[in-house]
Amino acid sequence: MISIKSRKWVEAGKILSKDPYAQVKCPTCEQDILVVQDVRNERNLDEFERIIQCPICIAYNALRMKDVDVAGGRGSAENNV
Ligand SMILES: [Zn+2]
Repeated sequence: MISIKSRKWVEAGKILSKDPYAQVKCPTCEQDILVVQDVRNERNLDEFERIIQCPICIAYNALRMKDVDVAGGRGSAENNV
């Protein structure tokens, strides 16, 4: 069974995977806006992790991203998810 908080984190992840500048409240404490940080995967440069973290309660979530997801297929029309 999935909790409401988990569901909210999934929603936050969806929003922030599309728009890292979106202002999304922390699903855990609801006291501050989540901070987004992209960390490049050095073993696979087409990929990076988008770390979403709350500055208040330090709850976080990480999304695995590909450049094609972000750029909408920049340099390549393929979207092979
Ligand atoms: Zn929080």
